[in-house]
Amino acid sequence: MRVFVSNIPEEGIKLNTREPLLIEGVTLAGPVTVSLNVQKVGSRVIVSGGFSCSVEKLQCGYCLEFFTAAIESDFYVECQPVTAIDMEEGEHELCASDLDVAFYENDEIDLTELVREQVLLGIPMNPVCSRSCKGLCPVCGVNRNKQNCDCSTAAVDSRFKVLMKLKGEKNGEPNK
Ligand SMILES: [Zn+2]
Ligand SMILES: [Zn+2]
Repeated sequence: MRVFVSNIPEEGIKLNTREPLLIEGVTLAGPVTVSLNVQKVGSRVIVSGGFSCSVEKLQCGYCLEFFTAAIESDFYVECQPVTAIDMEEGEHELCASDLDVAFYENDEIDLTELVREQVLLGIPMNPVCSRSCKGLCPVCGVNRNKQNCDCSTAAVDSRFKVLMKLKGEKNGEPNK
């Protein structure tokens, strides 16, 4: 999905599509449903819309089980042309905290790449399989969503809790 900026009509472009996206480190269950609204404002292009998709093989930070999650999000991205000045001085601009600004070159915007970035942003950094996830027993380590144990969690050594937390955080990272 590419658009040429000079071809965007005054009334803009509306797109509803299902894109089979390939994203490194992410397992998608199927194509990503995308709705896009592309508007030209001077040399800037506003791309707004939303997407929904199903992401497989996310690992829960509490119980360490893999699960599939439906992810949807709206976005609003302002695309600005890259100029020669930007190339020289704009390095700090590119990594500015404003995530809603993107850049385009040669009159062309790659909407697929834009959606890919939005999907990546939409995937939680520390996924949790369910709001009611009971996690692992800090004493015996069983998955308390699946199994009950008789451990008394009141007696847990606090240092062990810290270890469990670290382990959870490490495993919450996206899979390579
Ligand atoms: Zn869980
Ligand atoms: Zn236990």
